[in-house]
Amino acid sequence: MSGPKHSCGVVGFALNTNIAPYIFKALRVIQHRGQESAGVSYHDGETIETIKGPGLVHEVFLPEKIMAIDGKVGIGHVRYSTAGSKASMNSQPITVDTLHGQMALAHNGDITNADELRNEYLKKGWAFLTDSDSEIILRLLSKEPNCFHDPVKAIKNVTSIIDGAYSLTIMIGDRVFGVRDPYGFRPLCVGKLPEGYFLASESAVVDVLQGEFVCDVAPGEVVEITPESIKIAPSRSAGNKAHCMFEWVYFARPDSIMDGRETYQVRRNIGAILAQECPVDADVVIPVPDSGRAHGLGFAEASGISYEEGFMKNRHVERTFILPDQKQREGAVSLKLNPIKSTIKGRRLVVVDDSIVRGTTLRKLVQMLRKAGATEVHVRIGCPPIISPCYYGVDMKSRDQFVATNRSVEEIAELITADSLGYISKEGLVKALDLPENDLCLACVTGKYPTNIPGESHRFQSRLDSEF
Ligand code: 5GP
Ligand code: MG
Repeated sequence: MSGPKHSCGVVGFALNTNIAPYIFKALRVIQHRGQESAGVSYHDGETIETIKGPGLVHEVFLPEKIMAIDGKVGIGHVRYSTAGSKASMNSQPITVDTLHGQMALAHNGDITNADELRNEYLKKGWAFLTDSDSEIILRLLSKEPNCFHDPVKAIKNVTSIIDGAYSLTIMIGDRVFGVRDPYGFRPLCVGKLPEGYFLASESAVVDVLQGEFVCDVAPGEVVEITPESIKIAPSRSAGNKAHCMFEWVYFARPDSIMDGRETYQVRRNIGAILAQECPVDADVVIPVPDSGRAHGLGFAEASGISYEEGFMKNRHVERTFILPDQKQREGAVSLKLNPIKSTIKGRRLVVVDDSIVRGTTLRKLVQMLRKAGATEVHVRIGCPPIISPCYYGVDMKSRDQFVATNRSVEEIAELITADSLGYISKEGLVKALDLPENDLCLACVTGKYPTNIPGESHRFQSRLDSEF
């Protein structure tokens, strides 16, 4: 059995005052990282209490629920929607009682050896309450004999067993820890307030809380926060990192800075490089809102073609990406996006979007634009063709979903009915990020994985082959 795949958002607080208003706000800032469920675990001085449930942060945390939060330390989570999974069962944080005390955990990422570990421990007689890989982490931690005496050591013991992607916030009793996997797939940073310290998936939380950015949690690091201090356990990650490029391309907020790179700026760079790599003669650049906006702006700036709003986006509509069947997804696209006629009619368009996964969105949009009177529709994409599944927490799971599997760019252009189609190259993307290629996870566009995934090739495999 494989656990639900998800990318999520996590936070953690250690303050000298009630965390309630802070953690509620923080979770709302990272709402884009997960809309299926939200939750908070806090230590009230005696025990760990948890409030969680399906829905958006402000739906789960109605005023009386926020007022019920009464603790100076706590962690929180927003969970990303994945079709078919059970929201109530998998909402986080998850908590356990042990002989020595209580623990809570919030997880962003996917553990790649979760099935193996689960089977190993099932054979030893363990029982699991959920199919979530996060439960495995928490149970492994609770099995550590010294967990409450030497939490950092216990956490490090567990991280030596689990593989894959994890940015975690953990409460062990009333102590709060942040953990990032040795590759740094998912982001995690530390912020400071006059009232104490906090952890968050994205730095936008620091801005909104009017805090001070302290640092990114480095890959492999375990950080303990208290109201007065942060204690960083030295990093054990010696080798290359594998920051997920899709965080910048699509997932993160434009105003977040992760590992030294601001999402907005990276997207603008992508657009500019795309304009050089795949130029086109056109009258107007229109982005697919919201995630294609900065890419589109960069394209317009570099090409000299004017940038205009071509779509009205209805922000109250659920995400189309996760709907279970194709017909529903197509229907939802037109509910979400509608062309603005004066931008479109009689003009040659460059439509810029962040990524193509199944091709549903763009096929539908191109058709809508033609109906609205566009004379030509050229599509430009800020991410190379997605051809390989993500095992590290983005909901792109199987090759048969991807429109780019076994199709040339020309064939995809035909399928989405565009006059032309251009993707940024992998090299262009790496340049836009301005990080060493070997410190990025590009697996979904190269098919080469930064960690061992059975049946998939490793990113350094060719080098190893030639050396031995
Ligand atoms: P497609 O329609 O090609 O399957 O999906 C591509 C569109 O979905 C792009 O506009 C992109 O912004 C968005 N997208 C890409 N990856 C994800 C994801 O993991 N989750 C969600 N909700 N949207 C995504
Ligand atoms: Mg989009």
